[in-house]
Amino acid sequence: MQQYADQYIDGAWRPSLGGTPLEVVNPATEQVIATVPAGTPADIDAAVAAARAAARAWGATSREERLMPLTRLRDGLAARQQEIAETVLAEQGSPIGFATAVQAGLPLVVASSYLEILAGYEFQERVGNSTVFAEPAGVVAAITPWNYPLHQIVAKVVPALAAGCTVVLKPAEDTPLVARLFAEIVAAAGFPDGVFNLVTGLGTVVGAALAAHPEVDLISFTGSTAVGRAIGEVAGRGVKRVALELGGKSANVVLPGADLARAVNVNAANVFVNSGQTCTAWTRLLVHQDQYEEAVALAAKAAAKYQAGDPTSAETRMGPVVSAKQRARVRGYIEGGLAQGARLVAGGAEAPADLPNGYYVQPTVLADVTPEMTVAQEEIFGPVLSILAYRDEEHAVEIANGTEYGLAGAVWAADEARAVAFARRLDAGQLDINGGRFNPLAPFGGYKASGVGRELGRHGLEEFLQTKALQF
Ligand code: NAD
Repeated sequence: MQQYADQYIDGAWRPSLGGTPLEVVNPATEQVIATVPAGTPADIDAAVAAARAAARAWGATSREERLMPLTRLRDGLAARQQEIAETVLAEQGSPIGFATAVQAGLPLVVASSYLEILAGYEFQERVGNSTVFAEPAGVVAAITPWNYPLHQIVAKVVPALAAGCTVVLKPAEDTPLVARLFAEIVAAAGFPDGVFNLVTGLGTVVGAALAAHPEVDLISFTGSTAVGRAIGEVAGRGVKRVALELGGKSANVVLPGADLARAVNVNAANVFVNSGQTCTAWTRLLVHQDQYEEAVALAAKAAAKYQAGDPTSAETRMGPVVSAKQRARVRGYIEGGLAQGARLVAGGAEAPADLPNGYYVQPTVLADVTPEMTVAQEEIFGPVLSILAYRDEEHAVEIANGTEYGLAGAVWAADEARAVAFARRLDAGQLDINGGRFNPLAPFGGYKASGVGRELGRHGLEEFLQTKALQF
């Protein structure tokens, strides 16, 4: 078992300044696979001081001077893809196929997209008698969750560095190993000392110290809405910029005349991959009441293809959830849904019979779910699909928009123009039309309690820039 005692601060791995070790647990075996330092506010002070000291020089670099190490960073992500996949499998539970294609593959796509954006971005424009300069926001605190652990790091750190900001990263407690791997890749890419720093530890200790640090200019946070609200308050007190990527309760609306079987099959893949631990997951399937039982039967059949299994097997489509805590939370929601009158058509709250060890949850489908039920309102963050019936389009809009969230969703219709018109009525930051593919250049982020700000694409870069106008 690896026992790490250092943090990456000011261009070197340095002993953590106290704190008891944090255990990293493999969710498929329940074995402790490593320990990392829990870190202290003193580590945060050192990391922020390094980031501050490096900020002016890094912020004054040219596009080309930033593109060179960023390109090496991207190449490092490509060269170590297998190791990244195995690390995410071990600490987060993603099956090897998904870990390779998505957990390791997506960060590469995102990093590449930012090289393209940086190469073409206009950092200055003439508006009337003013020249407007886009300048870096300064020292960035990046606080990330465990569900797509490397993607979320890359989606913050790469645009921040591209913008000319310096960064202190505080990754999730459950997934510090892939963050350490990322720090190794950054270290090898040849950025100046202090431009990127990593401090592992508890959110309530080092995360809170980082967010509140007076030398931090911008907080970029991805995680739960509850912690996001607290971060927003801290940012307000410090008058810091803040970007919040929070939870979701996305609706997949299938309009009459759409390809129902395809819509349900794509929904099953969307909600069961990564064991449902996807902030954008379409956790509510909305179908017309006349097609309701047909959709329920299709969903039950589709769920059977995602039986939980050993993540090291190439056949496995769904592994465990990340921790015992998450498993208990997801099971509680399934039991609560049944107690409120939902009908179980696949899965259930019990552990899968063939998997006595590991934090496994069965792929679960709940029918007869009504909009006010807890399972239709709150983010479960597990492999649970709720199916709701609507009477007409008005009713579908009302249900889809009837939660506090507004992150993502999907619309299916026979006619694309009709689907687009319908999607314009939904309160959500990103929607797929008839199964539209992921686009790393498209802005991603939430309406309502799903967040503030955008990641990815040009909009994602601009989160880390501030403008200065000179009149002449
Ligand atoms: P979390 O909010 O508990 O933790 C997220 C991060 O914040 C972790 O690094 C944690 O250590 C840190 N943190 C916790 N308390 C803190 C505090 N008081 N001050 C500063 N930092 C603190 O969330 P989680 O359980 O890690 O992740 C699951 C949640 O994240 C889900 O609700 C999910 O929807 C959301 N999420 C959203 C997106 C998105 O882009 N919108 C993406 C992934 C996950």
